[in-house]
Amino acid sequence: MTGVSEAGSLARSNAAIVVGGGQAGVECATSLRQNGWPGEIIVIAAEELPPYQRPPLSKAFLAGEMPVERLFLRAAGFYEAERIQLRLGESVTAIDRRDNAVVTSEGTVLHYAKLFLATGARPRSLAVPGAHLEGVGFIRSAEDSRRLQPLFTAGSNLVIVGGGYIGLEVAAVARKKGLSVTVVEAGPRLLGRVTAPVVSSFYEQFHRTKGVDIRLGATVSAFTGERRVRTAVLADGSELPCDLAVVGIGIVPNDEIAMYAGVEVEPGEGVVVDRAMRTSDPDIYAMGDCAFALNDCAGRRGRIESVANAIEQARIAAAHACGVEPPSPAVPWFWSDQYDLKLQTAGLISRGYDRAVVRGDPATGKFAVFYFSDTVLVALDAINSPAEFNIAKRIIARGGAGLDPERAADLGLDARQLLPA
Ligand SMILES: Cc1cc2nc3c(=O)[nH]c(=O)nc-3n(C[C@H](O)[C@H](O)[C@H](O)COP(=O)(O)OP(=O)(O)OC[C@H]3O[C@@H](n4cnc5c(N)ncnc54)[C@H](O)[C@@H]3O)c2cc1C
Repeated sequence: MTGVSEAGSLARSNAAIVVGGGQAGVECATSLRQNGWPGEIIVIAAEELPPYQRPPLSKAFLAGEMPVERLFLRAAGFYEAERIQLRLGESVTAIDRRDNAVVTSEGTVLHYAKLFLATGARPRSLAVPGAHLEGVGFIRSAEDSRRLQPLFTAGSNLVIVGGGYIGLEVAAVARKKGLSVTVVEAGPRLLGRVTAPVVSSFYEQFHRTKGVDIRLGATVSAFTGERRVRTAVLADGSELPCDLAVVGIGIVPNDEIAMYAGVEVEPGEGVVVDRAMRTSDPDIYAMGDCAFALNDCAGRRGRIESVANAIEQARIAAAHACGVEPPSPAVPWFWSDQYDLKLQTAGLISRGYDRAVVRGDPATGKFAVFYFSDTVLVALDAINSPAEFNIAKRIIARGGAGLDPERAADLGLDARQLLPA
């Protein structure tokens, strides 16, 4: 790094500024240091808490089984040792691209040589009357999850809006705590966007046997109550007792500071980036949940809302900015924990599949679904089947060819035997 920007002008700073102290932001700062970034590395993070991981917020942390310190992404002392300046509880409110500078909520102006947007996303809000009532909320931050913990008491009525991963994880924790749980899902099946019907039915049955009331093809049209929520009213007029509601209907990327600075943004989708995670401004990168990126597995632009994706994109951006070889993109993967079920997915079904091959019997709680497009394996869902997950990930990484769908279903073959020679 010479201090000379790509535009050829003398940069006023050799600082790398990372906006957002989540999974992507911390990984980016760490990778910048590892890749030899010669100047200051500053992470500006809106939240007060040291950077932390989000997955446990709807799992062990929500259940009260994990102390807050175990959420933290790095041990105390890490940032100082790596000479990464953390500015907690401070937000970037504007980007001045003419001057390569950001303005923070403290009124501070900081200049950058390269700027990294890792601002994540926020929950999509539910625009219905009463959504503002006490007791109606989301889970995105540790604070959201911590607020819910004491309210997860046996006998309370919880309404979950949205039958996606987060909603179902919250349902599982709530049932373990003895709450009465209803999941209200607008679509005809649970997890409809991300899995095959066989997986949706499995989770539907499993939750039902655990006592969750599942309403499919249903929507909440209002919450009622005085100050606190008391009732959720469905579009068909039926009413559900509701002491608490958790809304999990997707997320909206935090792309406004980029948009107002004139950086290209796809409305509602995020900050547009190239394969190096560079935005329309060569001095600005974006990554993680706020980035609208090309993904070869998806075959199109999109946002892959996962830890693995945030880490990978952060590493690519940091490597590119440091002028070192970026890591090759890996197969996207994700996990979800509900009760004693571990779901692991590899690849993306959004590319399209024409055949879903089931290996094992869903009734046993241990099975895998291989998604093929013609004879190419494009994705897999593995429920309590880590061996199948590992094998499928390797096959997809090699392009997906070589696994005969009939063999995939053959339980007479060990999972390792599915790997083409
Ligand atoms: C409850 C829950 C459960 C999940 N479970 C899983 C799972 O099981 N597996 C999985 O792979 N993924 C899971 N995810 C998704 C995963 O956590 C996200 O994809 C990942 O956190 C994205 O990282 P990120 O750094 O892009 O965004 P975030 O983690 O959201 O971090 C962005 C940070 O930037 C801050 N910020 C925003 N704007 C500004 C600004 N202007 N100035 C300063 N700071 C700013 C935000 O406050 C936030 O702290 C889960 C997410 C949630 C919410």
